[in-house]
Amino acid sequence: MKKSEHRRITVQRGEPEIQPVKRALVTGSAGFIGSHLCDRFIKEGYNVVGMDNLLTGTLKNIEHLFPLKNFEFFFHDVSKFVHVPGDLDFILHFASPASPADYLRMPIQTLKVGSLGTHNLLGLAKAKNARILMASTSEVYGDPLVHPQHEEYWGHVNPVGPRGVYDEAKRFQEAITMAYHNYHGLDTRIARIFNTFGPRMRIDDGRALPAFISQALKGDDITVFGSGSQTRSFCYVDDLVEGIFRLLHSDCYLPVNLGNPEEISIKQFAEEIVSLTGSESRIVFKPLPEDDPKQRQPDVSRAKQKLGWQPVISRQEGLKRTLEYFRSLPVFLKQKETQIN
Ligand code: UDP
Repeated sequence: MKKSEHRRITVQRGEPEIQPVKRALVTGSAGFIGSHLCDRFIKEGYNVVGMDNLLTGTLKNIEHLFPLKNFEFFFHDVSKFVHVPGDLDFILHFASPASPADYLRMPIQTLKVGSLGTHNLLGLAKAKNARILMASTSEVYGDPLVHPQHEEYWGHVNPVGPRGVYDEAKRFQEAITMAYHNYHGLDTRIARIFNTFGPRMRIDDGRALPAFISQALKGDDITVFGSGSQTRSFCYVDDLVEGIFRLLHSDCYLPVNLGNPEEISIKQFAEEIVSLTGSESRIVFKPLPEDDPKQRQPDVSRAKQKLGWQPVISRQEGLKRTLEYFRSLPVFLKQKETQIN
């Protein structure tokens, strides 16, 4: 259904009212979070336009949406001029390599999608008079000296370190978004997303969770970097998507932290995964990557106050659902069959 088409809904007094169907563009739609966002907007009755260049995403994440009339897909790199025919009400910019291993492998693309890509999408939002939500990150706080991190903290980032390509692209993204908001009056939202996990994470994206689960299921050594005393706070993807949805529909143009404040050391996290999978894998320690943040925990007071949002899915429950997903992947199904035979 195109935006020009309309849905008939019934209002309380029994009078039928015509409401236009909203149309949302999701960049990075074939990625982990982007694909879950597409699902949510489709479920809410929106027309969804997905866009991805499949650099780190995969069509497998959205193939179930292709038969739907209210889903369209553009194979496109948003670092180049972006054209979308027709009206748009919302743009959600989620395209970017997002795991440290990915952005170290693709530093220039990472910088370009966060800067040039963001600029193109702001231009598109302005042309379409659409509201735009940016996927920013807890990485804007770098290796933080304030704990937990609240939105007023300016961060502690090494611009020329290996993570600088992602951190600084996202900091630029926030700066140019606020400039479009202040100078052009554009309707903007900024989500600072903390570590998120769930089904559709790429098994080989190098992040702690997919690495540990994959190692545990294969019986390989679990590689904890450094002593494992560094901390992270892991948010289940459904909670995050709820936060994004609420932020988009709120009037809050200031950055909002979205994440689960329950903090855990990486060593404990590895132990949790070993015990959950029932694996016999050993935990081994490898060198800590340069500039690896020592601690990370979101202060979500602003999200609570402005959006009435806080995570409701425990890490235990989220891990169970995620493990189920990884176990269903062909590589692990095949392994299970071999073990049985
Ligand atoms: N990590 C680890 N082993 C791995 C992958 C990551 O110990 O195989 C550590 C990493 O050094 C960091 C934490 O786990 O301290 C979280 O890393 P991740 O790549 O998931 O994301 P980050 O939060 O660093 O962006």
